[in-house]
Amino acid sequence: MALKLFNTLTRTIEEFVPLDPAGRAVGMYCCGPTVYDLAHIGNFRTFIFADLVRRYLEFRGYAVRHVMNVTDVDDKIIARVRAAGVSLAEFTRRHEAAFLEDLDVLGCRRPHHLPRATEHIEPMLDLIRRLIAHGLAYQSADGSVYFSIQQYIARGHRYGQLVRIRLEDLRAGERIRSDEYAKETAADFALWKSRAPEDGDVFWPSPWGEGRPGWHIECSAMSRQLLGETFDLHLGGEDLAFPHHEDEIAQSEGAMDPAAPRRFVQYWLHGAHLLVEGQKMAKSLGNFFTLRDLVARGYSGREIRYLLLAAHYREPFNFTFEGLQGARAALARIDECIGKLRDRAASQNAEPDPALIDEFTRALDGDLNASAGWAAVFEWIRRQNRRLSEESISPVEAAAGLAAWDRIDSVLGIGARAAAEAPPEIQALLAERQAARKNRDFTRADALRTALKDQGWLIEDTPAGPKLKRK
Ligand code: AMP
Ligand code: ZN
Repeated sequence: MALKLFNTLTRTIEEFVPLDPAGRAVGMYCCGPTVYDLAHIGNFRTFIFADLVRRYLEFRGYAVRHVMNVTDVDDKIIARVRAAGVSLAEFTRRHEAAFLEDLDVLGCRRPHHLPRATEHIEPMLDLIRRLIAHGLAYQSADGSVYFSIQQYIARGHRYGQLVRIRLEDLRAGERIRSDEYAKETAADFALWKSRAPEDGDVFWPSPWGEGRPGWHIECSAMSRQLLGETFDLHLGGEDLAFPHHEDEIAQSEGAMDPAAPRRFVQYWLHGAHLLVEGQKMAKSLGNFFTLRDLVARGYSGREIRYLLLAAHYREPFNFTFEGLQGARAALARIDECIGKLRDRAASQNAEPDPALIDEFTRALDGDLNASAGWAAVFEWIRRQNRRLSEESISPVEAAAGLAAWDRIDSVLGIGARAAAEAPPEIQALLAERQAARKNRDFTRADALRTALKDQGWLIEDTPAGPKLKRK
């Protein structure tokens, strides 16, 4: 079976075929964070989704080149920088570092490239030059440069590929300076924003005067530089489809050689929002949690990752604390079963058991259906637990199960819980209890068991010997 993905561009589920004639290399771009504050876990739902796509492609044998930009200049950043009285770089680097730490805590693989907008001004200017040369961009009286939707359409391009836009709703010729706007107000958008007094010292020289880039041009320029004029996958949260991604298409396809037009991106994937009580989790609504808020409440990165990965990426998903408790319980079930399989397998090595891998692959091949993937995992856990309790699983079978789990976990990325290591004094009590049992002093052995229990540790007698478990 082949991997199939829902492509926002065609609104259908399509088989994934990379551009690489050898069928191996895959270019993937995901719009990254705007580094003006801590990202919230709604943002991280999208970044974990990108991590899932990348990990699954790697599991399927593709060599992925994963690019995620860092938006380190925009209206919000400039306002914050002025309020904080620090330099743009000082301000944005601090937030970028926090973002990368959070990605690590959530078990996301680091993108191969994390280009910063402020370090790619030249490729942006180059793209704007091309657009002007193709008659698709113009400078307005205030010095800003705008993309002309009218000219774009006049040259046979289509504006409104990702979302349907009625041509009569287009306010072509009217200009929008802001980077965010609704479909209903679609009009010429800013590629280069002329320097305004409130920008302070945040500006760059350009052939059109001092100013700074619009948001959309950043992604067109950086993806082109790192992945080429055309590449395989472009991801982001569903709110980015319009205008951000639509404008990226217009800029990137508009800048190509008109004699050799190509499709900018082959597959557009959009992740659904994380909701709170039915509403999008958003900074502006104040209904958000950062990763650090949740860690401070005692939740781990893997519990949060699990929760954010539980639903299908195209399903809106409601964040609740009950959900997090559920994640904790689900992970405990996995950990317990994997721990028992480890004990049983001892140091056996084995080929991965294909049953779990096949079922999981079938689920994820169907447009990355992670919820079906988890269902396959839990069904497998149930079977393993039954066989463990019947003591009908051989060490080689246990090792084959573990090897399969390791393959699956290369996609899920939840790892195993760090062994809850008992401190030395507790280990010493356990050793004493073992000695007492050996001497058939069961009264003393029981007393030691109770002493351990009072200190929060349970003894579990397993075929591989006694083990300590947190109460
Ligand atoms: P931003 O830093 O605001 O540009 O957002 C970074 C990413 O997070 C974008 O891909 C957004 O689409 C995504 N995003 C924002 N809010 C949510 C949400 N509530 N659920 C899922 N993704 C979101
Ligand atoms: Zn982008």
